[in-house]
Amino acid sequence: MAQSISVKNLKLNFGATSVLKDLNLDVQEGEFIVLLGPSGCGKSTLLNCLAGLLDITDGQIWIKGKNVTWSEPSDRGIGMVFQSYALYPQMSVRGNLSFGLKNARVPAAEIEKRVARAAEILQIGPLLDRKPAALSGGQRQRVAIGRALVRDVDVFLFDEPLSNLDAKLRSELRVEIKRLHNRLNNTMVYVTHDQIEALTLADRIAVMKGGVIQQLDAPQTIYNRPSNLFVAGFIGSPS
Ligand code: ADP
Ligand code: MG
Repeated sequence: MAQSISVKNLKLNFGATSVLKDLNLDVQEGEFIVLLGPSGCGKSTLLNCLAGLLDITDGQIWIKGKNVTWSEPSDRGIGMVFQSYALYPQMSVRGNLSFGLKNARVPAAEIEKRVARAAEILQIGPLLDRKPAALSGGQRQRVAIGRALVRDVDVFLFDEPLSNLDAKLRSELRVEIKRLHNRLNNTMVYVTHDQIEALTLADRIAVMKGGVIQQLDAPQTIYNRPSNLFVAGFIGSPS
């Protein structure tokens, strides 16, 4: 299978603090990778580096065979979904979905087609004319996912997209994200501190601590054969 993302010797410092320390990560095309670890371990920082929202201190980032280390976020073929929905409150759902495409000068007919497809996939068709304030948390997060979907990107990056939702919605949307991945078969990198999310969603889980990937393996391997005590404790493996 072809390589989708390759992170090579990535270092990221905030001032004198080293947050990511010589991190390497290879993700295959179509893979669902979960970055799992406690708060403060560097998950969001790594995702923001992939997205181009942070300038890295050292190393390289390749996406689909292209060195994007210094590419603009919009030139990386990635779509990002954040924990907070970051929707434009004054725009309708349709406006939120089409805004970025209009800016990129995608023709109107094509925009309409992509919005309709995203609405169908995410089951938000009846909500297209509503404003974000008139949506539930789960519906808002679907729209946020829709904004990545309409861009036709190769890679989706999710930063704790479900952590603002209640338990019931969380499990519903978890199923839906899995279904989305099965349907699109694109690469997904998904950040969470929730072990259940990681174990149910991932093809492979990267367990992180202190800016270092402790173990990168399939969920059952992480669970049954944790490589160290930290991984065992964090994933809740039977001891
Ligand atoms: P996680 O997403 O795993 O909770 P983060 O990637 O947000 O962790 O943060 C990793 C570490 O980097 C934390 O210690 C955090 O305090 C620090 N950090 C994050 N963003 C900044 C920033 N803009 N400036 C300085 N330190 C930061
Ligand atoms: Mg975070």
